[in-house]
Amino acid sequence: MQHNWKTIIEPFKIKSVEPLGITTREDRLRVLEAAHYNLFNIKAEKVLIDLLTDSGTGAMSAAQWGGIMTGDESYAGARSYYNFEREIKGLTGFDEVIPVHQGRAAEKILFGVIGGKGKYIISNSHFDTTRANVEYSGAQAMDFPAKGALDFDKPAPFKGNADIAAMEKFIREKGAKNIPLCVMTVTNNSLGGQPVSMENLKGVQALCLKYGIPLFLDCARFAENAYFIKLREKGYAQRPVREIAEKMFELADGAWMSAKKDALVNMGGFLAMNNKDWSAKARQMLILTEGFSTYGGLAGRDLEAIAIGLREVLDENYLHYRIRSAAYLGEGLLKHGVPIINPPGGHGVYVNARKFLPHIGPGQFPAQSLACALYLEGGIRGVEIGSLMFGRRDAGGNFLPAAMELVRLAMPRRVYTQSHIDYVIEVFGWLAKNKKGIKGLQVMEAPAILPHFSAKLKPVK
Ligand SMILES: *Cc1c(COP(=O)(O)O)cnc(C)c1O
Repeated sequence: MQHNWKTIIEPFKIKSVEPLGITTREDRLRVLEAAHYNLFNIKAEKVLIDLLTDSGTGAMSAAQWGGIMTGDESYAGARSYYNFEREIKGLTGFDEVIPVHQGRAAEKILFGVIGGKGKYIISNSHFDTTRANVEYSGAQAMDFPAKGALDFDKPAPFKGNADIAAMEKFIREKGAKNIPLCVMTVTNNSLGGQPVSMENLKGVQALCLKYGIPLFLDCARFAENAYFIKLREKGYAQRPVREIAEKMFELADGAWMSAKKDALVNMGGFLAMNNKDWSAKARQMLILTEGFSTYGGLAGRDLEAIAIGLREVLDENYLHYRIRSAAYLGEGLLKHGVPIINPPGGHGVYVNARKFLPHIGPGQFPAQSLACALYLEGGIRGVEIGSLMFGRRDAGGNFLPAAMELVRLAMPRRVYTQSHIDYVIEVFGWLAKNKKGIKGLQVMEAPAILPHFSAKLKPVK
């Protein structure tokens, strides 16, 4: 007889531990004041549960640590490079595999090769480093999210999809020859870590074939996306996730990845494609800025750990736990009446602070205020995605309210257990009851570029 136990457990046991930063509320008030209400200025050791990002914050497995010890540090032609290349070729089917030190390095190199003034890159949504690198090359980054993606309250299975009709209209307007690339971000990070369906990927592929535009995946969370397809899309429930992932890559002409996400490592990435002309140019740039073509800014041991991580991430027990823990956090918050982007994404939960704190006006940084309250009361660190991060200002330098005020709670991979998440839910329960006490913030000083990293704020009177 096969039991069907309901409790979902972490599918690993713990071999190595690290203490959490345990502080009192008094300590945290001092820390917060000294950091000028900017959570990027807080020492990590003063944080209890760190949900700032899921990028490079995961725990490696015993097998990966074993790979670290056997990594080959030869400058050229290291064995670890060939293990890395074989794993990526096997998964993606792309012949040209270029290692880079993280995702944005792949973006810098790729758009250096194919971008430039007068060009447009089209996407379901560009991640912020992608957009910055497209624009740095002189090209323009155009987003075509599916209708309904911005309706946070209304759940839908594939809110990461692209609006294909809008894409086609744009291609006709601007001319396909001015569009060197279409990129599908899986999962769609900028819009809540929401997945893209296989049907939508096929539709985008057909559109790209029709107009002769190459299609790449920005595949930082390809495994989470593939698992969502298995869970939610008709016809995939019985298919192995690895097969679904391979199918996703089959629809594309190339991909780049921040290995700090679904390769389960702390640093690394790759750029892969079939186009030999582009890859030759990319390797020239790689040697100029990252390193020789068989290490690309990484140590041999990093390449080894990535190769192992890319296999481990497709373990369905792991993915079940992974997707379930974000959903569990989301459900817990909804029970306390905390509004979130619904359904929860693959790598975390996004709290709608504007809706949660209606008493804090649009000019008083509701999302940053909530993020600070979460730290003060519970020692939990999330990140504001709102007026401070977007940083748009009027002629007088005053911040303009952004279209959304979110606090992202990103979940590091294999780091926290269910009791940690229960604690986060409990803190939110308290905040929900006492939210009237949360005060808005005002900016005292902020630099012109990327203000959220170093702005200084204080509570309004
Ligand atoms: C993290 C990320 C990047 C950038 O990668 P880094 O490793 O942080 O440079 C690009 N695209 C997506 C979708 C990401 O999540």
